[in-house]
This record gives sequence, structure tokens and C-alpha cells, in this order.
Amino acid sequence: MYDLIIVGAGPAGMSAAIYAVRAGMSLLVIEKNPMCGGQVLNTYEVDNYLGLPGINGYDLGMKFKEHGEKLGVSVKEETVLALEDGGNVKRLKTTAGEYETRALIWAAGASHAKLEVEGEAELAGKGVSYCAACDGAFYRGRVCAVVGGGDVAAEDAVFLARFCEKVYVIHRRDKLRAAKSLQKKLEELPNVEILWNTRVKKIEGEEAVEELLLQTGEEESRLKVQGVFIAVGIRPDTELVRELVDCDENGYILAGEDCVTTKAGIFAAGDARKKSFRQIITAAADGANAVASAGEYLA
Ligand code: NAP
Repeated sequence: MYDLIIVGAGPAGMSAAIYAVRAGMSLLVIEKNPMCGGQVLNTYEVDNYLGLPGINGYDLGMKFKEHGEKLGVSVKEETVLALEDGGNVKRLKTTAGEYETRALIWAAGASHAKLEVEGEAELAGKGVSYCAACDGAFYRGRVCAVVGGGDVAAEDAVFLARFCEKVYVIHRRDKLRAAKSLQKKLEELPNVEILWNTRVKKIEGEEAVEELLLQTGEEESRLKVQGVFIAVGIRPDTELVRELVDCDENGYILAGEDCVTTKAGIFAAGDARKKSFRQIITAAADGANAVASAGEYLA
């Protein structure tokens, strides 16, 4: 029986683990991926995490892991399959075993949203990608498109522009929601072109991506690209907890800054929690707050 189990080893989960271990709680962290960091791992460069300007996403994930290890945090690479609330005891079934804990922090984060157009699923991995930092290097000297107007789309476009011949950013509105500093970077790049008020209707290609069917207002057009990077937001990974705690209509767990959910002993931290600003640093802050609340609950 653990005092606390944390699901997810991204910035929220690892920050929670560090606070929990220092608070003397018996602790287990469960992470489905072989590496700590969560979505951070898909980022080429992180320029707004305090104290580590310009750090590569993978290196930041490694720092989270090393920090945890230094304090004796144990991260098990397992996937949670089922979750049961037995009042004072929460039970988890994973791909490797069954665990019991008095308190639980759900810090499983979020995954890429799909564009949900024809050709996307068929050509996934054949020119359709959700991770520029992972797959971008395959497109050296080629023409690519990034779909979306948020931080991820802008970061992806800046990254791809370093080695792609041309990068189109396809955005459905006339304004980006990405941070101003990223917008400025994009504007300065001669090989980036933003296609405003434009939607991707279809992704086409025989063996791999060849062309996009676009719609701008009433007009349809075609754009030849070899790669399309989809960055249209995230969906919370909360399927397993939705039956136990209240969530909003998009599946984000309802919990305030104290990370307390509607179920006693279950706390929500990071991108899985309903909040207005999803950043690495706000996820890390959630981890600390969730442990403070879990500590009060356990006491
Ligand atoms: P996001 O901020 O939600 O942006 C998603 C973008 O995709 C928006 O521009 C949206 O258009 C567009 N979009 C959504 N659905 C679409 C569809 N069906 N077709 C076409 N376009 C669509 O998502 P994100 O960029 O993935 O970022 C996720 C979160 O992580 C954000 O809160 C972001 O700030 C955060 N983040 C933080 C860091 C950091 O800490 N350094 C780095 C990256 C991301 P509209 O603008 O019209 O809605």
C-alpha cells in the first residue's frame, strides 16, 4: 500500500514526485513511455522554462528523470488499464500488476488532436506526422506544411524552416494564437509562408503524402507538399478517471489550483486539469500543489 501513486511522468508528475519524496511519502510513479517528459519530449527547443533557456525537449525530460533518480523516485514503465475507488484505498491495474494507494495524482497529460480529414489516418507515418521534433529531419530540403496556429504549430514551423526548402503554415483564422515571440520569429523566416483563413480538406498521395486539398473561403486549391505536420491542439488523457471524477465537456478534470477533484483522495495535475494556461512551468506548479493537497488529505 503506497501513500501516493502518480500517473504520468511529465513535468506535473515528476514535479509531484519530487515534492512527495521530500515529504516522506511512500511513492510510485507510473509512466507508459520509456522516458520521462511527456509532451516535452516532442519539443525541439524550450525557451521559456525558468533557468534553462533554449534547452532541447529531450534533454529537459532527461533532467526531470535525473532529478527524480537523485532523490530516489522510482518510475515504472507500465500502462494503467483500470482504476477503482474503494474509498480510503484506490486500486490500479496496470500492464504489469496491481497496486493499492491511499492517494492518487492523475498527471497523465494530453495527446495530439487529430485533424480528422480524409487521408490523415491512411498516410500517418507516410508524410503525416504529429511531431516535428521527432520526424522533421526526414524532410530536409523538402516542402512541408504545418496545420494549426498555436504555440506548437509555430514552434514546429520555426524548427522545420531550419532545413526544409519551404514551410507553409495553414491556419483556419486570420490570427495566430501562438506567443508573440514565436510569431515574430516566424515572420522573420524567408522560407515560411502563412496561408490564412485556410483549412485542409483532404490529404492525398499514393504511397506517401503528395498534395493537400485546401479551402480558403469558397475557393479550393491544391498544394504540393511532402510532409504535413498536424498541430491542432491536444486532448486530455483522462478516459480512465472520467467515471470517478467530474470533468468538463472536453474531458479535462475539474479541479482548482489546489488540484483537488470531486473525489476524495484523487488529485489532478498538469494538462489533464481544466485550466487556462498550459505550459511546462504551470504543469510543474500543479505537481507541487497536488502534493500539498494530497499531504493534507493523508494527514
Ligand atoms: P492550441 O494552443 O490549442 O492551438 C491549436 C491550434 O490549432 C489553434 O490555432 C486552433 O485554431 C487550431 N485548430 C484546432 N482545431 C483545428 C481544426 N480542426 N482544424 C484546423 N485548425 C484547428 O494547441 P497547441 O499549440 O498544441 O498547444 C497546446 C497547449 O500547450 C497550449 O496551451 C500551449 O500554450 C501549450 N504549449 C506550451 C509550450 C511551452 O510551455 N513552451 C509549448 C508548446 C505548447 P484557432 O486558433 O482558430 O482555435
